[in-house]
Amino acid sequence: MDITIILSERGKELALVNLYKYKLIGEQKKDNLLRWRCTNNKCSAIMFSGLDKRKVIETAGQHNQDKNSIEKIYYI
Ligand SMILES: [Zn+2]
Repeated sequence: MDITIILSERGKELALVNLYKYKLIGEQKKDNLLRWRCTNNKCSAIMFSGLDKRKVIETAGQHNQDKNSIEKIYYI
């Protein structure tokens, strides 16, 4: 899956994947992966990308909310 980097309303970088938005929560140094968490606080879905933020390497957990509508997404 491809990642699109977008900006949140506060100007923070988010990853957009399949109309779900993720915020960066850390780096997994031993695997050279970035860890992202769904921007919905009640949702525990996470995903891992490469350091170039271009492709989803792995996902974990299920989303418990609907996808974002395209109007709510702010592209760079
Ligand atoms: Zn979610």
